Amino acid sequence: MDEQVLTPERAELVAKMAEIGPAFAERAPKYDRDASFPHENWADLADAGFLGLCVPKEAGGLGADFVGYALVAEEMGRHCATTALTFNMHTATALLSGPIAEALLAGERGREQDPDGAMAAHLENTRPHLWEGMVRGRVIHSQPFSEGQAPGARSGFSTVAVPTEGGYRVTGRKIFASLSGAAHVHNVLAVVEGDPHIRLLGVPADDDGAEIVGDWDPIGMRGTDSRTLVMDNVFVPARNEVLPPGMFNAMVSRFPQFYMSLTFSYLGLMRAILDATRTYLRGESGVKASRDHPIKQTGWAQLQLIYDRAQSLTYRVLSEIGADPSPEQLRRAHVATVTTMESAPEMASLALRTCGGRSLLRPGRLEQHYRDARCGATMLPWSTEELLVRLGRNGLYDEPADSD
Ligand SMILES: Cc1cc2nc3c(=O)[nH]c(=O)nc-3n(C[C@H](O)[C@H](O)[C@H](O)COP(=O)(O)OP(=O)(O)OC[C@H]3O[C@@H](n4cnc5c(N)ncnc54)[C@H](O)[C@@H]3O)c2cc1C
Repeated sequence: MDEQVLTPERAELVAKMAEIGPAFAERAPKYDRDASFPHENWADLADAGFLGLCVPKEAGGLGADFVGYALVAEEMGRHCATTALTFNMHTATALLSGPIAEALLAGERGREQDPDGAMAAHLENTRPHLWEGMVRGRVIHSQPFSEGQAPGARSGFSTVAVPTEGGYRVTGRKIFASLSGAAHVHNVLAVVEGDPHIRLLGVPADDDGAEIVGDWDPIGMRGTDSRTLVMDNVFVPARNEVLPPGMFNAMVSRFPQFYMSLTFSYLGLMRAILDATRTYLRGESGVKASRDHPIKQTGWAQLQLIYDRAQSLTYRVLSEIGADPSPEQLRRAHVATVTTMESAPEMASLALRTCGGRSLLRPGRLEQHYRDARCGATMLPWSTEELLVRLGRNGLYDEPADSD
């Protein structure tokens, strides 16, 4: 399965990431301490062409598909999970409008989805601008979808888009807008009154009506700069309508594994926990080696078991990724996500216990990993809570629980 997932072409991208990764790891404590955005890492990513990771090669990008993205994100997360999480938000836009859109429009189901070719034509019009920005303009994209709805609310967006001459006027508020101070374009979900089609619109960060408010001082993933985006009658030009109307809804019902994309940052973080524990126990990080003791060896063994479980499950999902997953394939994507998001903090906790008291001292790799790992399970819409409800219900009833 690993060879099927890690093809030579994808392995090349991972190797490219591995080359620039160690500098990310060195800078990580600074960004964590200051809760500041990793601008230097993003400059390195742009220089290496990773801003266009999922842009087709013909358009100047690196041409990665969903699996290629996942593997690069995992490698990035191994060096700096915060940067990988922000990179997920940027690349998600290219994934949605590229490989995922293509998958939704392919074959018989694609013809049913887009009988008059309007969706394909929309993409033909808007993607060149998007790709050009990512590949040559060093344009950074964010993806603030979250609105902090009332507990119990499970669907709908209160951000409103009003069609106007040449585009839309958008008003609303998004919480946890990762890359809030760094992104040039914030890709938000919005609704047009009376229209069931959710819009994905690229809000220009420099519009007078777009404002970043609030503080950012969280427990972990501190470099993501996820402050609040407030939009007051912002003008969004038509070419910034990333997806044709109806395509986001189609993704939700036909390619919901998209929501798994941030899981790979956390899988990479698990690798980082293994790396840091090994370095520590071997005495390579300033504290005397303790690997001779069987208790330490057992702890290290347990960490590997936890990582291998999560990695096997996620790679299996990668080996069968595509549009229109069977109920069993979707179940496996849910299971892999919950397993990774729950295993990362479990692993970080066990690593601290195994290494011992001095590994708790700041600044320390494991201490930061412990805090970063805690964030994954809360991320919507595939939060652990949400997925456990679905997994718990599906199988006990004939009809599936609420869809994504
Ligand atoms: C470090 C970090 C970075 C983040 N970056 C981003 C980002 O870039 N973009 C982004 O969009 N979000 C981002 N998030 C936000 C995250 O995805 C969640 O939206 C957030 O953690 C929810 O917090 P809450 O306090 O509203 O908690 P919750 O209580 O988890 O959520 C509030 C309510 O939302 C409702 N809800 C549950 N599931 C769904 C669902 N599937 N759809 C709609 N509503 C639902 C529930 O009823 C719940 O009560 C980030 C979070 C963290 C921790």
